[in-house]
Amino acid sequence: MSLGYPIDLHTHSLRSDGALEPADLVARAAARGVRIQALADHDTLAGVAEAVAAGERLGVRVIAATELNTESEWGDAHILGYFLDPADAALEGRLRWLREHRGRRIELMVEKLNALGYSVTLARVMEIAQGGSLGRPHLAQALFEAGHVPTYDSAFASLIAKDAPAYVSRIGLTPLEAVDLIVAHGGVPSLAHPFTVVRLDELMPLIVAAGLVGIEAYYGAHPPEMTAMCLSLARRYALVPTGGSDFHGRGEHGAPLGGVFVPPETVDALEARRRRDPATTMALSVEGES
Ligand code: AMP
Ligand code: ZN
Ligand code: FE
Ligand code: FE
Repeated sequence: MSLGYPIDLHTHSLRSDGALEPADLVARAAARGVRIQALADHDTLAGVAEAVAAGERLGVRVIAATELNTESEWGDAHILGYFLDPADAALEGRLRWLREHRGRRIELMVEKLNALGYSVTLARVMEIAQGGSLGRPHLAQALFEAGHVPTYDSAFASLIAKDAPAYVSRIGLTPLEAVDLIVAHGGVPSLAHPFTVVRLDELMPLIVAAGLVGIEAYYGAHPPEMTAMCLSLARRYALVPTGGSDFHGRGEHGAPLGGVFVPPETVDALEARRRRDPATTMALSVEGES
């Protein structure tokens, strides 16, 4: 098997819209040479324990993360949150609320598809998701299986992408609220694949003021000039450039595991910015005084 890069800070498992069990995902990453991997399932930390355990067996450091897809005038602003605690009950309450709205949204999209003559059942979509955080990829797979679209990927453009006939908008967080939520729970937020944002130049100062720490400069779909633009934003706003594959194991979306270069200093830089949060800084100075 061909080797990838050793750091991958953006991967998805069956706990959301990826195709592999968390342990299998980590095993696949390990086999490709990944040594540090963030599991960033949408609106859930449910796969973290299993991924961490697999990582311990395989020599992969697994970072607990999530990806919050937001709803606002800024288009597809997705916020990655690193170093979150799966045992944080208040955070889990917020994530559960987001997952409930995901489920309701997919139900509405199923109704819309049926009204348009594309017969799919919510039961089949839920079977495909296998208990994971529901999303459009599960719907795309159901549409493909039913023969309504020629490929999994084409379901998006023809039926379920924004402005496509069966699209339903999300009830969820704005990008600023997503950053807030992650920071409030001791995590470190990074803006995923920034070029899916509408009017990025306007959002940047606002989201930085809200507490953004990183920007996903290294990404499979970024040609060198897009990475360079992200690096220049990182310098302007003092952000840590992050990166990852966005591997799902479904369709053409994302890169192979470890398929994207991420600088070796990235994880330390993110962790350093985490310690700067007020509560932790206070705890450290109290410790220092004793
Ligand atoms: P959702 O969170 O339900 O709105 O679904 C968004 C997810 O769908 C993204 O995180 C991607 O995994 C996937 N996705 C979005 N757009 C496309 C596309 N054009 N082709 C393939 N996958 C996509
Ligand atoms: Zn996804
Ligand atoms: Fe995303
Ligand atoms: Fe993603």
